[in-house]
Formats: sequence, structure tokens, C-alpha cells
Amino acid sequence: MPITVREAYLQGREHLAASGSAEAPIEAEVLLRHVLQLDRAALYTGWDRPISEDAWHQFQRVLDERARGRPVPYIVGQREFMGFTFAVDERVMIPRPETEVLVECIVEWVGRRERGNAAAPTPASSARGGARERDVGSRLPDPGSRLFVVDVGTGSGCIAVSLAQLLPSAIVFATDISMEALEVARANAARHRVGNRITFLQGDLLAPLPPHLAGRVDAVAGNPPYVPVSQRAALPREIRDFEPPVAVFIDGDGIAVHRQLIAMEVGAGQADDVAGAMAGDGKYARVRTLADYSGIQRVVVGERAASP
Ligand code: GLN
Repeated sequence: MPITVREAYLQGREHLAASGSAEAPIEAEVLLRHVLQLDRAALYTGWDRPISEDAWHQFQRVLDERARGRPVPYIVGQREFMGFTFAVDERVMIPRPETEVLVECIVEWVGRRERGNAAAPTPASSARGGARERDVGSRLPDPGSRLFVVDVGTGSGCIAVSLAQLLPSAIVFATDISMEALEVARANAARHRVGNRITFLQGDLLAPLPPHLAGRVDAVAGNPPYVPVSQRAALPREIRDFEPPVAVFIDGDGIAVHRQLIAMEVGAGQADDVAGAMAGDGKYARVRTLADYSGIQRVVVGERAASP
């Protein structure tokens, strides 16, 4: 008597619950859909269909992998982020929903700024005449107003690719110290057809950026490793034993990279004071301010000396 989709699902759920998974129902469903290559609706409407013996054995194999701790996104090879599907494997950290906040914050900031610019066109843009004025207030990006965004430690590319998707005027530079992470990120950029607006560079933090970008970067995003190595044993094995350590752990108190690189937006006229305070702190070998595209010093960037 062949086993049905429902029976396979119920057995999978039990198997995962017994192995300690807190999310056995959704994980069993995702793994079963992966094996059967079915979307959610097809799974639910085909509940009483039999599954092939091959599929059943394959389902057993992925359940065992999961029970041994391998995270579901690595098993199925993908993860959703900002509504986009990203290919992931052990070369990169799995995108987390909390990182979506960072992407949303940048997208909102850019939106506010573009609306502000549309409401009060700069003298340079009004000087371009009538044709230009029809664009004011529309959602079309001004072809002359390039937005430069940097994603440090891009990993799967989830931040860089989402920003390129959501900000059609953005030119994105994405760095990573891991060459193999960059391979994954490049494939994700191609998959979402934004490869032509993202430049991937291998290296630490801002180091590999081309010099001509100095003073032209509008926003720096990043989700650096910040778990202190001393907390390794306390982490769930999914992270501890499966995700790339270089993406997760940092020596010391966990804010070493944040101390190495700080980029923050400031109000008009504040950049010098903030930069002065940061330089006075003595922790930063290099403090710079970056102008926005109307020429206002808008972002203060501090970089710590490579190694003290
Ligand atoms: N930027 C990627 C992410 O947010 C990778 C981050 C990392 O590897 N630390 O998922």
C-alpha cells in the first residue's frame, strides 16, 4: 500500500519533533515540498495522492540530514529575503528576517530623500529646463542622480541584491572577505537580473572599494560577524556547526567590526562635529565625511586602524 502525501508529512513532522526541532510542522512541509517539487497549494490539494517510492526515500534522507542539525535552507538550497528567493549553501550565512529592517531603513531613507529632492528641485536640476520638470514628483529615477550604495560583508548578497531591486537608481558595491561567498552573491545577482548594477569586490570591509568612490557613497549597509567566539558553545548547533564561522564569529566582545567600521547619517551642518568627536576618541585611524548628491556632508565614516 503506497504512502500518501499526508502520511509522509505526518511521519516527517514526528521524526523532526522527536529530534528536537521546535518548528517541526513547517520544516516537514518545506522539506516535503522540496522533494515533491510542489508549491503550497499543490501540496494541500494533493494531500491524498500517493508519493513514489523514490520520493519517500529521498524524504527520509533529507529528514535525517535535518535531524542531524543541517539547517533547512541549506538542504533545500534557498531562502526568502525581502520577498526574493536567494540561493544559499554552506559557503554563506543564511539571510535572517531581522536583516530586512536594515534594508527597509535604507530604502525609506532614499525614498524620503528623493521625495525631498522632487519637492524642492536643486538649482542644477531646474536649470535643465522644461523636459526635466515633467519628471518632478514621478517615481522614475532621475537618470542623472546615481545613488551609490555599499554592502560590506555581502555573504549571499541578500542586502546588495534587495537594494538593487528596490532602488532602481542604485549602483551597488558589495564586498566580502570570502571569495566563495562572492560566488554565491554573484549568482544571486544574476538570478535577480541586477548583476549589471552590482560590483562584487573581494576584501575586508571598505578596503577593496575603488578610490574614485571616496566622497561619493550615499549609504553603507552591512551585517558583520558579531557573535563573540566565547559564546560559541551556547549557540544552537545549526549555527555553530553549519554556518560559516567567518560570517558569524568575531574575537573579543563582538563589536570589533562595528568599531572598525562605523557609517552613520548626520543632519546638514553636523558632519564636522561628529567627525571631530569620532577622531578625538582616538579609536579611528581614519575618519571621513561623505557628501550626499546635493553636496551636503551627510555620512560620517570611521575606520579603525587595521590592527593595534
Ligand atoms: N550580508 C549577509 C546577510 O546579511 C551576510 C552577513 C554575514 O555573513 N555576516 O545575511
